[in-house]
Amino acid sequence: MIDSYAVFGHPINHSKSPRIHRLFAEQTRQDLTYTAQDVPSKNFKTSADNFFSHGGNGLNCTVPLKELAWSYADHLSDRARLSKAVNTLARQPDGRILGDNTDGIGLVNDLTLNHAITLSNQRILILGAGGATRGILAPILAQQPSQIVIANRTRSKADTLATEFAQLGNLRSSDFANLAQMQFDLIINATSASLSNQLPPLPANLLSADACCYDLAYANEPTAFVRWGISQHARFSLDGLGMLVEQAAAAFKLWRGIQPATSPVIALLNSERHLPPSS
Ligand code: NDP
Repeated sequence: MIDSYAVFGHPINHSKSPRIHRLFAEQTRQDLTYTAQDVPSKNFKTSADNFFSHGGNGLNCTVPLKELAWSYADHLSDRARLSKAVNTLARQPDGRILGDNTDGIGLVNDLTLNHAITLSNQRILILGAGGATRGILAPILAQQPSQIVIANRTRSKADTLATEFAQLGNLRSSDFANLAQMQFDLIINATSASLSNQLPPLPANLLSADACCYDLAYANEPTAFVRWGISQHARFSLDGLGMLVEQAAAAFKLWRGIQPATSPVIALLNSERHLPPSS
């Protein structure tokens, strides 16, 4: 039987994951199927049980299923345990289901390998304190930035994350209003504001000289945050398409034991949208 993989989410019809994984499979000459299934939260367990009991090898889980996937896994990678969210499930040879979170390493690889943006010794601002921030914090802290500030509209959520991850590095929480007078070398937008073409209320002069901006969200046009980064003269103002491809590559490696080349896939997906050269 051909090895089978899928992405579960709700909604799922615009997911680029099937295309990305099919491109990886073609490139690495792997015989597999990868489908997308619309799975609302209430059906997650039944659908996952059904997928794995019919021989499914691995699942990607996206909004709103990452916390449910975390509870579903029989055992967890260290980074998934810390993030309390799972985007990749893998059936092991003994039948147990491993849960991993490849979002953070996807972001770090896109920043450091694809754009040569250094994280060590940098002052980093993360906007948002939801599931995506949970997933990226440990891999970013492992790069030893000099400081991370987490700013969130609901301050208490930023406080919780700063406390939970405090042992891993120099971490502080804030609300948006208290960011005035601070400066950062990298600002990561991990809010979902861009999905509704909105921007968190950011003070002027937040960026140091040569600072970069990165929006985890991605679209066919520059997001509100990418446009803001360009207006603030960021060295790079990027969206999360590269992270999407890199997190998929890390999942593919976990499942297949082969690291696919990400650059041609990113280049192909980028060529199909219309972004100005500075973003
Ligand atoms: P969550 O729903 O868990 O969290 C949303 C966060 O955004 C919260 O902190 C929320 O603040 C904040 N927020 C929402 N709207 C606004 C607004 N108008 N102004 C300010 N803050 C706002 O979402 P996720 O963490 O799962 O996802 C965040 C983003 O990351 C999404 O755009 C998602 O698409 C993207 N993502 C991209 C990936 C990639 O591979 N490129 C992978 C994973 C995520 P509050 O707590 O106050 O409600």
